Amino acid sequence: MVYFRTSFLIGFLFLSSLGWSKVWTTNTGSKSEGELFEVLGDRIGLLIKGREYHFSLSRFIQADQDYVRRWKMTPRCPSCSKALGTRTIEAGGVKYHTSCFRCMVCRSGFRGGDQFRRDAWNGMVHVKHFQSTGLCGTCSRIFVKRGAHPKQFFADGRMSCVSCLKDGVFETKILNEVEDRVWNTLTRIGVSKPRGKLTIRLVDRGLLNKEALKINARGNLRGLTLTKYKIVKGGSNPGTTFDHIIYVLYGLPYIECESVLAHEFAHVWLNEKFIESTPPVIEGFCNLVSSEVLEKEKSKLASILLDNLQNNTSLAYGVGYRKMKANLAQKNWPQLLAEMKSKSKPPKL
Ligand SMILES: [Zn+2]
Ligand SMILES: [Zn+2]
Ligand SMILES: [Zn+2]
Ligand SMILES: [Zn+2]
Repeated sequence: MVYFRTSFLIGFLFLSSLGWSKVWTTNTGSKSEGELFEVLGDRIGLLIKGREYHFSLSRFIQADQDYVRRWKMTPRCPSCSKALGTRTIEAGGVKYHTSCFRCMVCRSGFRGGDQFRRDAWNGMVHVKHFQSTGLCGTCSRIFVKRGAHPKQFFADGRMSCVSCLKDGVFETKILNEVEDRVWNTLTRIGVSKPRGKLTIRLVDRGLLNKEALKINARGNLRGLTLTKYKIVKGGSNPGTTFDHIIYVLYGLPYIECESVLAHEFAHVWLNEKFIESTPPVIEGFCNLVSSEVLEKEKSKLASILLDNLQNNTSLAYGVGYRKMKANLAQKNWPQLLAEMKSKSKPPKL
């Protein structure tokens, strides 16, 4: 009898944990099970096996799109995505469950007049408790320092949330896998691998910034490419040889590492062709190549990084990127690459 009750209880818990999940079917027929947690314009957020993904709604069959429409009609708490009941509280035009609307640090509910900060992941904290929290350098997620793992604090002063840390690239083996994945996308659009030698090194922020000074680059850098070339005239082996070294910060989650490598590989491609232009053209092009890799990734992090590119206010990285993107919209990759090649200025011998 006791056994029966126990197994009944387990069965019940199992079912209830699946309650929010459903099978999603794309227009091409592939299926996956996940829980809807947010709808942002034409993008939906699905929680699949504990990870947050973003997909465009149009890739799903009509029945799933109808499900999203109905889901959206129910007023929901942005913190837990569940339907709002009677115990709600409103802040800045958004309604929360009273029990969800609390500070991550002191755990007490916010009251009228309290100043708080909210991240893109629904983490909320009193402004006066902000110094007790860390901010993920990749996804800007707020986390409580007290409960954090020591590994979340990197020796070079950077911080990472648990979820970005879990996907962090710390070893060469993983770096090589990321590299292969990036080349797959790049070679497909026509950005070929270099002829010269290419070395990639995982480094800390201090070393990256020191190397960057060699080419007068500064700012919040994540990666850097240095290319050396040698021109041999005459003799038995004439021609130009290249030696590229790419520095990339260690511990970036693999999605961000992919986007950094894609950007740097684009520099390598430009450098081997002696393509010269203004910073908005060069950095805009490299970010466009990087966005191509991010577009292929469906995690919520990839769509946040794409939003960052879209909202970047820098003349070279932001304005340049959007100009290059508008340019690509008028043509295709082979045409854009040909246009870049026309800017080639090989050194005169
Ligand atoms: Zn809630
Ligand atoms: Zn607090
Ligand atoms: Zn993070
Ligand atoms: Zn660059």
